[in-house]
Amino acid sequence: MDFEHVRATDPAVADALLAERDRQRDSLAMIASENHVSRAVLEAQGSALTNKYAEGYPGERYYAGCEHADEVENLAIDRAKELWGAEHVNVQPHSGTQANMGVYLAMLDPGDRILSLDLTHGGHLSHGHPANFTGKTYEVEQYEVDPETGYIDYDALHEHAEAFDPDIVVSGYSAYPREVDFERVQEAAEAADAYHLADIAHITGLVAAGVHPSPVGVADFVTGSTHKTIRAGRGGIIMTTEEHADAVDSAVFPGAQGGPLMHNVAGKAVGFEEALQPEFGEYAQQVVDNAKALAGRFQEHGFEVVSGGTDTHLVLVDLRESHPETTGGEAEEALEEVGIVLNKNTVPGETRSPFNPSGIRVGTPALTTRGFDEEACEQVADVIYRVVDAHDDESVKAEASDEVDALCEEYPLYE
Ligand SMILES: *Cc1c(COP(=O)(O)O)cnc(C)c1O
Repeated sequence: MDFEHVRATDPAVADALLAERDRQRDSLAMIASENHVSRAVLEAQGSALTNKYAEGYPGERYYAGCEHADEVENLAIDRAKELWGAEHVNVQPHSGTQANMGVYLAMLDPGDRILSLDLTHGGHLSHGHPANFTGKTYEVEQYEVDPETGYIDYDALHEHAEAFDPDIVVSGYSAYPREVDFERVQEAAEAADAYHLADIAHITGLVAAGVHPSPVGVADFVTGSTHKTIRAGRGGIIMTTEEHADAVDSAVFPGAQGGPLMHNVAGKAVGFEEALQPEFGEYAQQVVDNAKALAGRFQEHGFEVVSGGTDTHLVLVDLRESHPETTGGEAEEALEEVGIVLNKNTVPGETRSPFNPSGIRVGTPALTTRGFDEEACEQVADVIYRVVDAHDDESVKAEASDEVDALCEEYPLYE
């Protein structure tokens, strides 16, 4: 991974690529939506398939010369079907957002109604935020988590669905640490005669491994990303039933996209093959065990953990109780200085601005890929607490930085 060809043409970009590789090696990626793919996935994504136009679907392309593209896409589809048990899979969405766009475009008309979780409570931009195409195209109302417990209030969601009469109810979140009860969301959607889109972007890998209940077979549509808890490279995926297969496929192409990124589809195929191996099940379980270890240790230190813990790969810390003077932004910045990269996040009942909110979101997928176990994660929790608690103290940060360096060496990446 030394980018010799890039260097010969373009030293500036080669320098940046090397520096990025080193940044990932020498810091701890704890952004809950990030992970590290294998060299095999990187190679597939860097392949000559980036040159190929393959508009259409396997066996029915608009261009000649698609036999290898067909093979790769069919492999990605077959493996996805095996991983998630879906009847129909579309692996062409360029991202999770475009997977959602595919579903909305397939089933909704402009002005139709979406009921989804509020962004500051853990929802996603593509679920109806005013700045997103969804907020501009559809009529959106949002539900919230119970501010006391941090859990989705399914009764309130059900009532909201009956009152609002949406065309689609969206479940699946960006910053929700608890198991999602897809059956209860389905009941709410059915009560309103609405479709149910389960967006499992964050937990795609956890669902594939069976460490989180699956919405496949429950919700009408399941969308996901392929780069968060599953390590198949950046992209999106849609799963649905035979009934909606044609509508979804034509919404993705030609509805929302042109030619698929076939090199990324190759990355998906390779990453899915890796996820079909028994070790992936162990990995996914370890991701959750590590997040639980992190949450437990945070609580021992006195951090308030939203919902009192986690069932998934992420922990949401509300700093208002333990550190009322410290914002999520300050915490994020101090932690980045010592080599722990995570993000500030809004918390349920947020009282600050989304640009400098009251919480931090901490994820374990990338660390687990590097081999971290519970004990190592507890050590990281100790470092995080110390740095947040004394975020202006240079000697505390210098010591923390040394500890992070030692951990990065102990758990190497892309050797
Ligand atoms: C990450 C995420 C997506 C997809 O995001 P992209 O950046 O477009 O791939 C979609 N929905 C949710 C809930 C997410 O967390």
